Amino acid sequence: MKKTKVKFIWNDEYVGERLCWYPEEEGNRIKPFSDKYWSKIEILSSNRLKEIQWNKFKKVIEIAYNKSGFYKRKWSKAGITPYDIKAWDDLEKIPVVTKEDFENNQREYPPYGDAFTIPTNEQMKYWQTSGTTSKPRIWCETKEDWENGVYNLVRCFYGYGIRPGWRGFISFSYPPFMAFWHCHYAAEMLGCQVVPKGPLSTLAWINIIKNLALSSVPSFMASTPTYAIRMIEIANSEKIDVKELGIKKIVLGGEPGASIPATKRFIENNFEAEVFDLMGCTETGGPIMFSCKEQALNRYPSLHIVSDQYLVEVVDPYTFNRKEGDIKEGVTVITSLGNRTGMPAIRFLVGDWIKIDERKKCVCGRNFPLAIGGVSSRFDDMIIIKGVNVYPSLIENSVRSIEKLSPEYQIRIDGSRVIILVEAKERGDKDLYLKLSKRLEEDPLIKTSLRFNINVVDPGSLPRSETKSKRIIKEL
Ligand SMILES: [Zn+2]
Repeated sequence: MKKTKVKFIWNDEYVGERLCWYPEEEGNRIKPFSDKYWSKIEILSSNRLKEIQWNKFKKVIEIAYNKSGFYKRKWSKAGITPYDIKAWDDLEKIPVVTKEDFENNQREYPPYGDAFTIPTNEQMKYWQTSGTTSKPRIWCETKEDWENGVYNLVRCFYGYGIRPGWRGFISFSYPPFMAFWHCHYAAEMLGCQVVPKGPLSTLAWINIIKNLALSSVPSFMASTPTYAIRMIEIANSEKIDVKELGIKKIVLGGEPGASIPATKRFIENNFEAEVFDLMGCTETGGPIMFSCKEQALNRYPSLHIVSDQYLVEVVDPYTFNRKEGDIKEGVTVITSLGNRTGMPAIRFLVGDWIKIDERKKCVCGRNFPLAIGGVSSRFDDMIIIKGVNVYPSLIENSVRSIEKLSPEYQIRIDGSRVIILVEAKERGDKDLYLKLSKRLEEDPLIKTSLRFNINVVDPGSLPRSETKSKRIIKEL
């Protein structure tokens, strides 16, 4: 086995043969590189980052071709081998893969499909996607993959300003979704005390945090935007102010909330905390994009793309043609660059709508490219009614900008009719509800040529969720 100069979290005896290629600039993964950056990688030049991407990309496509039935068949059908990929311009020869491809593959070769490169029973982790938009898919990770994901997230946490000795409240019930498990172990590796929520009720959870706030240890919380809002609601109903919980930083993932200004502001103001975005996806592994401490100060924070670990391409949503140039806008196709070798995702259509500006530099000094304004919508979520595109995130932003409405909402689509259900914060009469619906209807952000039917309902009428919310209901 080729020796690297990288000091890993776990030793080789535990992890086994490392399949990924590691740049020596990673140095010691266990310790911070400086007061500001966990790893030197974060401040490497763009050219060096591109070189690292290329080395890893070549390695991962070779592994996949030689060991994964799924990729071998797909690429053979397209008439290519990894050896035909000689420069970035050749990338388009590799077919884009979709959720449906993996779904069909798992149906054909149950239960895991055959995208894996190492027998699934020899892999350490079992995950399922949350199934927000389709049937849950199974995913596995080797010990090496798992370590890479945790290391990747430690860098983000450090970039948020979380430090050893802090306390981390991990607000999830520990289902087989990957993201918050990563938060748990990354916090642990960083040297934080981890407090897991598990199956506790929201009120019991709030009381634990409130009690621990007495010791005034700096603390952070990881949660979905939906759950942070749920905590505010439950606390209010018990006359507890969530500011008393003493949470200084909140890491939001699983939904686009931290990139939607009104949602971000609502959570920031209630908790009196800084709010950070973390964007990942089960198929590709750990965090792909994050907002650094400096970006989180902005109303529309941009996200850093973790470019040594992921290749994020921007493509046309219909043709999948790659967008070129310094500024690119379209949907994301993502490759895990060897940080996920057990079940690799290669040119996987994640489908988030994104704008990358390679010329923009962040004041934090990181050279990871910026996704301008973050990720606020997934292309799949876009509603097209009578040729007009409607993004649910815009509706969310408008709803949450109105003081007298609760943050809950639901969008029901019935043929060409769009009904937006919103809740009054306090019970009122018909006149008040009419006034509120008019106010929302006239919001310039959602004013399109479409007429929405807006229905204001009594407080507490809409369903609540403890993880992600199902906001769009298509009625047949
Ligand atoms: Zn930055």
